[in-house]
Formats: sequence, C-alpha cells, structure tokens
Amino acid sequence: RAKHLASGYVLYDPKYNLHSAEKLGLMAELRQAIDQNQLVLYFQPKLALKTGRVVGFEALVRWQHPRLGLLGPNDFILAAEQTGLIGSLTRWVMESALTFIQQAALQDDPLRVSVNLSARSLHDANLLEMINEAISASGTKPELLMLEITETAIVLDPVRAKKTLDALSQRGIKLSIDDFGTGYTSLASIKDLPINEIKIDRSFIKNMLTDNKDFMIIRSIIELGHNLGLTTVAEGIEDKDAMHTLLTLGCDEVQGYLICRPKASDQILLWLSENN
Ligand code: C2E
Ligand code: CA
Ligand code: CA
Ligand code: CA
Repeated sequence: RAKHLASGYVLYDPKYNLHSAEKLGLMAELRQAIDQNQLVLYFQPKLALKTGRVVGFEALVRWQHPRLGLLGPNDFILAAEQTGLIGSLTRWVMESALTFIQQAALQDDPLRVSVNLSARSLHDANLLEMINEAISASGTKPELLMLEITETAIVLDPVRAKKTLDALSQRGIKLSIDDFGTGYTSLASIKDLPINEIKIDRSFIKNMLTDNKDFMIIRSIIELGHNLGLTTVAEGIEDKDAMHTLLTLGCDEVQGYLICRPKASDQILLWLSENN
C-alpha cells in the first residue's frame, strides 16, 4: 500500500496503515507516551557478509499504544517532526540505544548500534549537546554509536549538515548515509562529508535478481563505496540468493528478515547468544 504524504514522499508499509488525520490525532498522546515509557526500541542485527558475524544493530523505534497496539515509525515519525515532538523522541531513542550498547558490550566484541536521525533532528541546534550528554551519562564509547542520515536531510541545508557531521565525526561518532541512491545528494557533496558507511536502499535490493538495472546500480554503488573507502551495507535482504550475489559483489554487510527481524532488546540478546 503506497501512502502519498503531503511532503511528496511515498511510504510503503503493508503492516501499519493509519490515515494522516489519525496520525495527527496520535500526536496529542505522544508526549505522554514518551514520559510513560510506551516507546519500545527494537534492534535488527547487521552481519559481516564474509564472516557471517554480527557486527552491530540498527535501532528501530516502536510505540506500544494502549489502544492501537504496536505502531511502527511510519505512523508517527513524520507527525512528530511536524509537531516538534521529534526532539524528545530522538533523545529517548538515543538514550535507549546507548543503554543497549552497554548491555550488548557484555559480549566479547564490542557491537555498534546505529540510530536513525530525522531531517529535523540533524538540523536541531541542540543535537550535539544532547548526544554529548547522553554519551557521558551512559559511559559508552562514542565509536560504538553510528548515526544514519538520509540524503534528503543533508540537501535541506548542506552547509549546516557538514558542520554538524564534522563535529559528530570529531567526537568519534560513526556516520552512515541511509537509503543511498534514492535521494538527491550529489556525489561531490558526499565526498566532502566525514561518512563511514553507505546503505543501499531496499528498493534496489528487492528485485536485484530479476531486474538487471537494479543489479547494475547495486554493483556500481558497492564499487563507488569501496573506491571512496566506505563500508557498504545492503538492507532488506529476504532471500539467500540475493545474499550470495551481494557477497560475490563484495558488499561488506547485510541486514534483513532473512537474517533476523527487528526485535526488542531482551529478544535480540537471546537471538545473539544463539546465533553468534
Ligand atoms: P529505514 O531506516 O530504511 O529502516 C529499515 C526498515 O525496513 C525498517 O522498518 C525495518 O524494520 C524494515 N526491514 C528490515 N529488514 C527488512 C526486510 O528484509 N524486508 C522488509 N520488507 N523490510 C525490512 P521500520 O522499523 O518500520 O522503520 C521504517 C523507517 O522509520 C526507517 O526506515 C527509518 O527511516 C524510520 N525510523 C525507524 N526508527 C526511527 C527512529 O528511531 N528515529 C527516526 N527519526 N526514524 C526512525
Ligand atoms: Ca535506517
Ligand atoms: Ca534504510
Ligand atoms: Ca529504506
């Protein structure tokens, strides 16, 4: 089900399908939801393709709504941005992700956690201070935190984005370009940013074995990434053949339902102890 939002973006998510009006109505409840701990952070593992080892997780927010059940981010992130609640939400996600890093650090290898940053949050004047506070409070190494940023968020204000990303990078935080290939960044602007990773969007991965153009785009992104010294990650892997093809193309890391669906922290730590 394609949802055409006022912003011009199209979201596709068969599982969650609230109308825009319902989403705005929800915002009245979100403030309380954050305070009452109704938000839940899910985690999905990222695997190194060559070794098959877990190298980190992506944090994906959910809302355990008392009436509506478990809501996905497509139901409330955009509205949270429009109503100014995104700052509180991002802070909650950041603190919860850092807490999880501390829990997961009980493993032998330190595992990195990636947090999605909306456009509004990237350009929030308080972002650096908020992240610094959260890192200090948790006692986590900044190197274990990665931020996923979309090209769209960068092009909104490339000069400001560069300042923010430079500061985050100097702090030791890792940076990833999410949904790579779907936005409007020029390669020149990426060249000047302190990026560590690019994530190939699922829209290319979905049909990579049947659509030769998608295959060629993926191959080119992986080559480009490696030529620029970046880690390449493919998201949304649902079948073994796709995973094998990505391995032969030299893609570094994969994420997807084939490996593991996003799960709450206790469930994912259990999965980790059984699978790594
Ligand atoms: P994204 O960053 O591109 O995240 C990947 C989405 O694909 C997630 O959906 C994930 O559950 C889903 N996914 C993972 N593997 C597969 C697969 O094999 N097949 C399919 N069909 N889907 C897969 P989710 O959790 O509903 O999140 C949707 C979007 O919401 C994310 O897209 C991200 O842009 C945003 N989001 C999630 N958490 C946060 C957050 O804490 N803050 C902000 N600002 N945005 C968030
Ligand atoms: Ca992401
Ligand atoms: Ca993505
Ligand atoms: Ca995506």
